[in-house]
Formats: sequence, C-alpha cells, structure tokens
Amino acid sequence: MARVVLTGGAGFLGSHMSDHLLARGDEVVCVDNLVTGRASNIAHLADHDGFTFVECDVSEGLDIDGPVDAVMHLACPASPIDFAKLPIEILKVGSYGTHHALDLAVEKGAVFHVNSTSEVYGDPLEHPQAETYWGNVNPIGPRSVYDEAKRFGEALTMAYHRAHDVDVRIVRTFNTYGPRMRPDDGRVVSNFIVQALEGENLTVYGDGSQTRSFCYVDDQITGQLALLDSDYVGPVNIGNEHEFTMLELAQVVLEATNASSELVFEPLPHDDPTQRRPDLTVARRELGWEPTIQLAEGVAKTAAHFAEELGL
Ligand code: UDP
Repeated sequence: MARVVLTGGAGFLGSHMSDHLLARGDEVVCVDNLVTGRASNIAHLADHDGFTFVECDVSEGLDIDGPVDAVMHLACPASPIDFAKLPIEILKVGSYGTHHALDLAVEKGAVFHVNSTSEVYGDPLEHPQAETYWGNVNPIGPRSVYDEAKRFGEALTMAYHRAHDVDVRIVRTFNTYGPRMRPDDGRVVSNFIVQALEGENLTVYGDGSQTRSFCYVDDQITGQLALLDSDYVGPVNIGNEHEFTMLELAQVVLEATNASSELVFEPLPHDDPTQRRPDLTVARRELGWEPTIQLAEGVAKTAAHFAEELGL
C-alpha cells in the first residue's frame, strides 16, 4: 500500500489511474487544475477514504503534506486541438510542472513516474518505434508545444535521476482511448464515435491512409502500473502494436455503432505523423506486460460510454 500523488488525476487517463490505484489499496492525492480534466471523472471517488482531491496548477507549484511514496505526473492537455488552444500551458506543465513534481519526489524520497508520449518520435522515420529511436520532431511546428514539452520532461527526469539519484519511470504512451475521453476532445476515436452515434459524417483528415495503433485505457493503465512497480529506469513504450489506417478505424467504428454515416475528407493537419506503431519488446521483457483488448472490443465499450454520457 502506497500514498501516491497523481497530477492530472481528473483527466481521462488520470481518473482511470485513480480507480486502479484505489482498487489495489493505494491512497491517491489527486491534483488537477481542471483545465482539461473534469470533476465528473472523479465524482464517484469523492467519498472514498483513500482519495483526496487538490485543485491546483502543478505549473505554479506542488506542495503536499505528509509522506509520499510515488509522484505520478500525468497532467497535460493531450489532444492536437489543445495544442492550438493551450500552447503555453502545455509547455509550462511539461517544464515547470515536471520540475515541481520532481522536486516533490526529491523532498519526499518518492519514486517519480512521468507520462511521456509516442509524440517524442515525431513523424517517425523508423517503424515500428523502439525506445532507442531519437525521433523526427519539427521543433517549431504547431505540435512542437506538446512534443518538445514531453521531450524536455524526459530530459529533466533523467537529469534528476543522474544528479539527485531519483528513482524514475518514463512511460511513452501511444494513442490511448476509452470511456471518459471528452466527447469534443478532437481526437480521432472520440470524433468518429460521437459522429457515428449522432448520425453525422465521419471526418477523415487527409486521405485516411495515415496509421495509428490504438490502446484501450485499461491496458494502458495496467502497463503503466507494471512499470511503476518495476525497477526499470528508462523509457518504456506502452500501447498496442496493431496498426490501423484511419479508413480502417472508420469501418471499425461504423460496425461497432451500427451507423451508416458517410466519410468526408478534410485537410490533413500540419505535421500530422504518417505512421505510428510501438515496438513492445522492452515492455514484454522488463514488465511481462502486453495489451489484451483489441480495437473492436475497446471501441464498442467506448461507444457504449459515449451513448450514455450524451443520452443517445
Ligand atoms: N483524424 C481524423 N479525423 C478526426 C480527427 C483526427 O482523420 O476527426 C486523424 C488525424 O489527422 C491523425 C489521426 O486521426 O492522423 C489521429 O489523430 P488524433 O488527434 O487522435 O491523435 P494524434 O494525431 O495525436 O495521434
């Protein structure tokens, strides 16, 4: 049993992390400024003895009383539409926010776990992406606020490991989806499912031949907890290695929702990666973990959640 400070704990991933930590008997101090996190994601935890919510912006500081065994830094707006709306906030939470979370880990002698991203690989020239690949990132494009903030966060984490001997974990999360994504989040899985449920056209950007590898949220969380519980220092890809084009994803969504929406094609966003798939060799070898939920099953669960949330 551990006391865990979890930044971004009211977000999509963070709220699932809270659930899983509490379910295994850990105590959760959930820190969120609710800029993209939602109070409704954690409302069901309000009366849980092991759960405390602290409304605070980790970019401004992170002051927590009492012992702390682990600091998990998940806070960050994560959708490409957030990159345009909240560019400075994203850079700050990746830099100042990571710095404050690391300082708390030093003060408390806690393990530090940071959520990084497959975006550190940019538009990858190596495929699939192993942790040894250094990436192909445009440092000044519209996605750079996220990509470079996460790359800086990894660099700062390893600097604290080397300079202060902090025990660190770095997870590189690949496209994760599931219940509690914001319906208007702008990412492809939520967009397609909501559009299908509402009988709207599915908006495919570009020609739909670009690929992603989608990981269901429960798999993502069990992978991250396996990493937290391990003693592995260094980045680990957590995702699903089944790769789909956006046209294939659209078909999966149409089948799961029984919708007959048309596809409409819209311009491809600037610097949109053409392909992405994790190499999971390290996760399998070091954590004994691999994903178990495949896309059709996960999309069906996510669609059921959105249908309920939106009253459709
Ligand atoms: N995309 C799409 N239609 C949408 C939203 C996104 O075709 O309504 C595409 C987007 O251009 C990208 C892929 O889906 O190629 C994944 O986009 P998402 O925003 O989900 O994540 P990321 O680009 O960060 O992997």
